Amino acid sequence: MSAAAPDLATFVNACIEHAGGLAEPIEPDLIEVLVPDALRGAFGEREMVRLALDLAPAEAHPDAEPVLPGSHLLDGLIEYAGQFGRCTRTWPQCGPVRPRSILGEILRAVTFSARRVQHSEAEAIRSVAAHAQFDFTVSLVSDEREEVLTTVVVDLWSGRPVEAFAALLPGLEVDPDGSSPAPARVRVTLEDAYTRACQALQARMAPRIERLQGLIGRRLQAETGRLELYYRSTLHDLEKRLEKAPPDRAPAFQEKIAAALFEREARLSELTTKYRLRPSARLAAVRTLIYPRLFAPVVLERRGVRREIELCWDPVVGRLLMPVCERCGAEADYLELKWDGAIVCRACTAQDEA
Ligand SMILES: [Zn+2]
Repeated sequence: MSAAAPDLATFVNACIEHAGGLAEPIEPDLIEVLVPDALRGAFGEREMVRLALDLAPAEAHPDAEPVLPGSHLLDGLIEYAGQFGRCTRTWPQCGPVRPRSILGEILRAVTFSARRVQHSEAEAIRSVAAHAQFDFTVSLVSDEREEVLTTVVVDLWSGRPVEAFAALLPGLEVDPDGSSPAPARVRVTLEDAYTRACQALQARMAPRIERLQGLIGRRLQAETGRLELYYRSTLHDLEKRLEKAPPDRAPAFQEKIAAALFEREARLSELTTKYRLRPSARLAAVRTLIYPRLFAPVVLERRGVRREIELCWDPVVGRLLMPVCERCGAEADYLELKWDGAIVCRACTAQDEA
């Protein structure tokens, strides 16, 4: 992995220093902070605060505020960083986005089912929107240590992770002098987007973690087997000698047997600890990607129920962002308006009929 990937401590320090505060390390992953004015709100109006940047110091120092993924303080810092500094705003180059009809793209990509489906043939609305890019450092620590840098992009309009975006990032050209009015189509806060990014990260990492867990489990089994074999023969040997020993030598062998049993337990428990997978993730950087997209409405009607949904064409991804089922949350190329007004996918519709 890249050695330049900043960790949580680097991110927190950078935020505090950027805001004009001071951060002094007290011990590993424990810092004392002179809170700058700009961050007073996030820190409950305190001037001085200790921050624990990992679980262990957080447990050892209950007076310290934990700054861990999901904590309100980290969210506050991300929110702050979202405006300046290392959580940067970027303006990907996507060429001119001219208002035009995206009806063709909608018809090709999504089938709607309702009594009446009303598409707009008019020009789609050009409007500035944003994605949030979260870069995570994922550590998979067991008897070995593996670190990977992985990125999740969440659409701040739909609140959905945009998997297709991650693949585009390495080649993404950004406009260094870019600027634009504040994105108008932001419906999801950076904190909410971060929560969803964490969920997406977990889902993405799950198969890898499971595979690794299996591998480590097999290594543990092999090591445990070797250890058991060694102690079985040692104990067998000691018991034989105990049988043959004169009465005055017996206590010495009994002690040796007890010691061997104790040692075996200790080494087995050591192995179990060593071969346990401890996955963790740290947020390394955040940036928002701001650029215009095209939005067009679709109106669905059925027996007095009328719903309007909006579809979005993304010029960087180069296609329509797929809408999602309101029941299961999955992206869908077929959406049906139900009697209760929900717009659901084919699988959810089939489930209703079953
Ligand atoms: Zn569904």
